[in-house]
Order: sequence, then structure tokens, then C-alpha cells
Amino acid sequence: MRLLIIEDELPMRSALVETLIAEGYRVRSAADGIAGLELACSEAFDLILLDVMLPGLDGYALCRALRQRGRRMPVLMLTAKGQVDDRVDGLDSGADDYLIKPFSLKELLARIRALLRRHEHAQALPEVLEIGSARIDFRRGTISRDGEEHVLSDKEAGILRLLATTPGETVAREQFLDVVWGYNAFPSTRTVDNFIVSLRAKLEAAPATPRHLITVRGAGYRLDP
Ligand code: CA
Repeated sequence: MRLLIIEDELPMRSALVETLIAEGYRVRSAADGIAGLELACSEAFDLILLDVMLPGLDGYALCRALRQRGRRMPVLMLTAKGQVDDRVDGLDSGADDYLIKPFSLKELLARIRALLRRHEHAQALPEVLEIGSARIDFRRGTISRDGEEHVLSDKEAGILRLLATTPGETVAREQFLDVVWGYNAFPSTRTVDNFIVSLRAKLEAAPATPRHLITVRGAGYRLDP
């Protein structure tokens, strides 16, 4: 796995490089936003660690530019304490997860592994999925059934992707929060239930008696294709 670290503070950059190499990752690094963007677009990376406050181009602008250029690799943003409100900006700019400095290396490594896993699952799935009489198009973000087309929100699409990677198996509510919302998710497991209700309305012919998006009492949800 190849990782790119974009961080201007030398001690932090060195520590990250050293830790990640020791974990077996192949690592490149950049010390400012412009060099970082250039590197991110010219070589293939599986994940980017991106500092927010950077000379040249800040992390948000860099992330947006990356997505505009069609680069879809996961981005984990690193930000200083006190910028927690910026979390939303980071996620809006196309970052996948957020970590607040100072963080433990153990947590950083766990987040990296989770993001890589998530990305791998998403890539292994076909862009179009048929479930019962419904047709889900992940590329267009739509779900159509009986001649009606509905728009899928990012979260709904994430829930379906996760269920579809393990058809017939139960996925716990906490797993949805981890994978779809990210590690430091604020929403409660009730949120997952609400999204399932809205998904059933789009997916199921009779949402009150679902045949595909099944509740597993006390455990979570299951997809029966
Ligand atoms: Ca910085």
C-alpha cells in the first residue's frame, strides 16, 4: 500500500513517515500544499494523510482540487485541536475522515486500516446492483423500481454498499457508524435505523413488510438480494 503524507511541520512529518514505513507501508511525503497536490496527481496512492494548515494551498483546497481531478483515494485529514468546527469543512471538501492533533499513533493506524478496508470494499462492488425489482446505480447515485427513480444520498449509498459486500450476513448498527460515518461519528445508532426506513421506502415494493432490507432483532440489518 502506498501512502502520501502532506504535512509542513518537519517533526510531525518525520514521525509519520517513520511510523508508517515501520508498519510496512510505502511512503512519500510533501511539505507544502502545491507540491503535495502535484505528487498526489502524478503518482498512484492508496491513501493520503493531509494536514489542514499548509503553506501554498491549505488542506481543504487541496482536497477539493484532488476530487475535481477525479482522484478518489481516501483522504484522512489531520487538524490541530480547536479546529474541531472545521470538521464539517473537511468532510465537505471531500475528505473521508478526520483526526485531531495530538492523536495516538495507534489510533492513526487503526483509522488508516479502516479507510483502506472501506475503500477496497467499495471498489470491489459492481457499479450497478439488482436487488429484487430494484436497480441501484452507485455511479449515478440512483435507485429505480417499477418505473420510478429515486436519488440515493451518500449515506444511503454507503449503507447499501456495506450490506452488499456481505449479502445474507448481519451488519451491526455500530459497524454502519464506523464504516459509513467514520470512526469519530457523532450520530447514534438510531440514525442508522432512520436511514434504513428511508432506504426501504425506495428499495422495497412494500416497505412495511421488507423482503430485502431485513431487521435482525437485537443485532442489526441484513441484505437478502
Ligand atoms: Ca501544518
